[in-house]
Amino acid sequence: MSAKTTKKQFKAESKRLLEMMINSIYTHREIFLRELISNASDAIDKMYYKALSSSEIEFNKDDYFIKVTADEASRTLTISDTGIGMTREELENNLGVIAKSGSLAFKKETELQEDHQIIGQFGVGFYSAFMVADHVKVISRAHGSDEAFLWQSSGAEGYTIESTEKPSFGTDIILTVKPNTEDDSYDDYVSEYSLRSIIKKYSDFIRYPIKMDISESVLKEGTEDEYEQVVTEQTVNSMVPIWRKNKSELTDADYENLYNEKRFGWDKPLSHLHISADGSIRYQSILYIPEQTPYDYYTKEYEKGLELYSSGVLIMNKCADLLPDYFSFVKGIVDSEDLSLNISRELLQQDRQLKVIAKNIKNKIKGHLQSLLNNEREKYETFFKAFGRQLKFGVYSDYGMEKEVLQDLLLFHSSKEQKLVSLDEYISRMSEDQKFIYYATGESHARIEKLPQVELVADKGYEILYFTDDIDEFAIKSLRSYKDKEFKSVSSGDLGFEDNENKEAEQTSEEDQTLFDQMKEVLSGKVKDVRASKRLKSHPVCLTAEGELSIEMEKILRAMPNAENIEANKVLELNVNHPIFATLKAAAGNDEEKVKLYTHLLYNQALLIEGLPIEDPVEFTNNICKVMV
Ligand code: ADP
Repeated sequence: MSAKTTKKQFKAESKRLLEMMINSIYTHREIFLRELISNASDAIDKMYYKALSSSEIEFNKDDYFIKVTADEASRTLTISDTGIGMTREELENNLGVIAKSGSLAFKKETELQEDHQIIGQFGVGFYSAFMVADHVKVISRAHGSDEAFLWQSSGAEGYTIESTEKPSFGTDIILTVKPNTEDDSYDDYVSEYSLRSIIKKYSDFIRYPIKMDISESVLKEGTEDEYEQVVTEQTVNSMVPIWRKNKSELTDADYENLYNEKRFGWDKPLSHLHISADGSIRYQSILYIPEQTPYDYYTKEYEKGLELYSSGVLIMNKCADLLPDYFSFVKGIVDSEDLSLNISRELLQQDRQLKVIAKNIKNKIKGHLQSLLNNEREKYETFFKAFGRQLKFGVYSDYGMEKEVLQDLLLFHSSKEQKLVSLDEYISRMSEDQKFIYYATGESHARIEKLPQVELVADKGYEILYFTDDIDEFAIKSLRSYKDKEFKSVSSGDLGFEDNENKEAEQTSEEDQTLFDQMKEVLSGKVKDVRASKRLKSHPVCLTAEGELSIEMEKILRAMPNAENIEANKVLELNVNHPIFATLKAAAGNDEEKVKLYTHLLYNQALLIEGLPIEDPVEFTNNICKVMV
């Protein structure tokens, strides 16, 4: 450094800095209460940690609490604590210097172990009081001192400190709440009811009692219908979060209470899981699987997410990043002391920690569902009826990236069992000669059962999975196979039977081929091919599709906007052993009109069986009449 250069400290326009901070750090004004209560809790914690290292201090839990008092008439709100208090110097340093955190210094000085509960670290939370107050007074008496001091400020203009009296150790923060303006009401911050719900929302799990004087109307003694207003001091926070308790101490009713209290749903939870993770990132969590599908679940309005706490203080109401979309039905709470928060404590500073927790949670949910499926089948089926569709979406979305996680959790209706079965159960029942997992698609089980295509596969004794959900076939196409067994639609070109009978049937005679060609011409533009069927037994005709796009998929895709041109490669299959085929053959070559009429009739029949609309219903009925007369 040359002789001329001098090093200078940055100066800050503290007035502007304070204004900026007050108005831009926080998105919710009510957060100020969370900040002041967190400070009060820290002040009590400091006493607790001091007592741990000093035999002279006794920490009697009953002496430590926080009290919130509102006075509507004078528009004052007081937050008192019986914590460590502040000396004159500490008032000066901690409340007079922006971004100075006495709590952070305390943590460093006392070399607290990792599992401490002290919340403060940024040295700005206190000033959030100015979001709702014109004037703030702090009366504090440090532990072990005879003197008390009054710090007061009206915000940007600065502060004063003077001596005062205070009978007991601790701190009172007295806010003069702002008058209402045209745009803003501040009445909530002097209303007992609103304050109580803000405390419940953000500070329910502060470890020390938060007391309030609650006025209630109670039955007057000696009367049957006369009521009087009585004020009693009550603790308004739950203090110990149930997720910090040991599972063995908790009953199902405890978990249900939390579910109701948090308004996770109007139903009862179907199942819950309680996690206490001690890995690279520590966290506790209680997760719920609801019993019923929320009314808006399959709409855009539904918001997924878990409540996120940092050391018992609410950070985010719905943290979406904690849940993958396919588990979006899960409700619950995550609490971690290992999160690094940003300055407003409304967001996280880095999402690496969150990613670790999210991954862990994903695996736990998967494990939990799998164990429900294995051990509590009935419950799992209730779950699957409510949310199975979401799992199938999960298999299909993101190019099938998560299919490995989800495939074991899928259930489909089985032709054999007439109930839901898992893919694993299907596989375990397959006979040795069966090479594929067969499925059939349709609107309902009853309709699928009657599909001509189903008959032969069912006759072989093979189990068929019935797909009635829009998403089913898309999901299965994304899976392709399960445990090396490929999926096959009963409508697909080759059914994969290895049997000689059918091999012979494959050879189409020249005569038959001429008829097929003739029919194909009649149906030109409607079907790609007309051919002899290998799957029909008692029915004369059916429609199948060649290639990736099935008829069912065409139906679904066509219902979407701008998808009019999507078309499956349809094939009209005829049962060459059916009497109607003999009639057709007899007509071929000598009665062209008859071939035309029968071709149209058969094609329309096949459409109806598939649940597809026929182009011209009037022509169809006229054609039937022609045959009838
Ligand atoms: P933070 O809590 O992040 O440290 P604040 O601006 O809220 O930041 O508070 C600044 C400092 O003031 C705290 O670190 C603490 O040392 C002191 N302080 C604030 N409120 C209290 C209180 N109620 N009792 C004792 N000390 C307090």
